[in-house]
Amino acid sequence: MEAIRRVVVVGASLAGVRATESLRAEGFDGDIVLVGAERHLPYDRPPLSKQYLTGDWSADRLPLRPRSHYDDLGVDLRLGTAAAGADLQAGRLDLADGGEVAFDGLVVATGATARTLPVEALAGVTVLRTLDDAADLRRSLLRRDGGRLVIIGGGFIGLEVAAAARSLGVHVTVVEAADRLLARVADRRAGETMQALHREHGVEFRLGVGVSGVRGSGRVESVHLTDGSTLVADAVVVGIGATPAVEWLAGSGLRLDDGVVCDSGCFAAPRVVAAGDVARWYDTRSGRLIRHEHWTNATEQARRAAANLLNGPDGALPYVPVPYVWSDQYGLRFQTAGELSDSAERRWEGNPASPRFVTRHLTDGRLTGVVGMGMNREFIARRRQLVAEHETIGA
Ligand SMILES: Cc1cc2nc3c(=O)[nH]c(=O)nc-3n(C[C@H](O)[C@H](O)[C@H](O)COP(=O)(O)OP(=O)(O)OC[C@H]3O[C@@H](n4cnc5c(N)ncnc54)[C@H](O)[C@@H]3O)c2cc1C
Repeated sequence: MEAIRRVVVVGASLAGVRATESLRAEGFDGDIVLVGAERHLPYDRPPLSKQYLTGDWSADRLPLRPRSHYDDLGVDLRLGTAAAGADLQAGRLDLADGGEVAFDGLVVATGATARTLPVEALAGVTVLRTLDDAADLRRSLLRRDGGRLVIIGGGFIGLEVAAAARSLGVHVTVVEAADRLLARVADRRAGETMQALHREHGVEFRLGVGVSGVRGSGRVESVHLTDGSTLVADAVVVGIGATPAVEWLAGSGLRLDDGVVCDSGCFAAPRVVAAGDVARWYDTRSGRLIRHEHWTNATEQARRAAANLLNGPDGALPYVPVPYVWSDQYGLRFQTAGELSDSAERRWEGNPASPRFVTRHLTDGRLTGVVGMGMNREFIARRRQLVAEHETIGA
């Protein structure tokens, strides 16, 4: 395979920025073009539901890097420019504004977009994925001190928004269709502990019930639930997950199935790799295709994908991470590493009924996952142990 001379990275956020940095760190001295649909300098998303939402941080603290960083790296940064299609045979990226960019290597890093509810579009109803979403929500929360916020979805984003809103004196109700919180990312016990913590801070919960409608005249006034009850609302946040941003790749020949489907080395095609929330790759440890929507994954996968792109599929190393997620709520850090399951044997340190604990998950006597809250030092030690065991078994 001829050496790659011009790489286009689509998606100017965490995975895209890390990919450009890794290309240079690997010694690539050809052209790099970084194309991003948003007009903002690439920024960090985690503070959007935390320090930025509470008003503790202003927007100027959010960029991942200063503008000069891209000049220093020799990256041609094209913001406010969405990709509309890719011709892999011709090595051509089509832009929504009618322009084109040639490439001989492509990094897909378009992340995910927030899922919405099929309800009437009303002012005061928002998702939280972008800086623009967060700016709208922040304005609404800061203006409505003492108002009523309904959060639809009891996952990380919903709960972080709940914590931020409570710190601003807003009345919060979380509605979750499952019978417990954090159902997709943590075990039942951790979800219950988190719920108790939020209750202590005055958050109300409606679990095991769906949303049948959101009503208002122009602006949201109420949320209607499937059990027939109604919640009064001045603002609504819909936090029900995200969908990989792959529409622009329809017809490109890449396999699209809950993300861009990749092999274990993050290759979607011989000169195309994907990384971050958009990538669904073959995990050699579980023998399954998996996709992660977390900060650390976007960083680590972008590094591996960029190095593999330069080395080619034959020289590619598999991407086999030990997943890690954190979430900050009420000044406490909730963290998980590895695989968590309700069926694993669990060993607790600290008090599992309090927000200060570390739980080891064991499968057939082997450490397979760690959950922690508040006990950072202990969590870090257990996470290290998990990574070491993972490396020992060569998974
Ligand atoms: C509010 C919030 C809080 C979070 N908090 C945490 C946390 O505490 N801990 C944690 O582990 N993770 C957290 N995450 C998750 C983490 O931020 C994501 O996993 C990470 O941003 C993924 O990076 P990415 O680059 O893959 O995708 P994204 O950050 O989604 O970026 C993709 C970029 O591609 C652009 N794009 C999409 N389509 C196109 C196109 N056709 N052309 C050009 N550009 C396009 C998008 O506009 C976007 O800028 C949080 C996420 C959110 C939204």
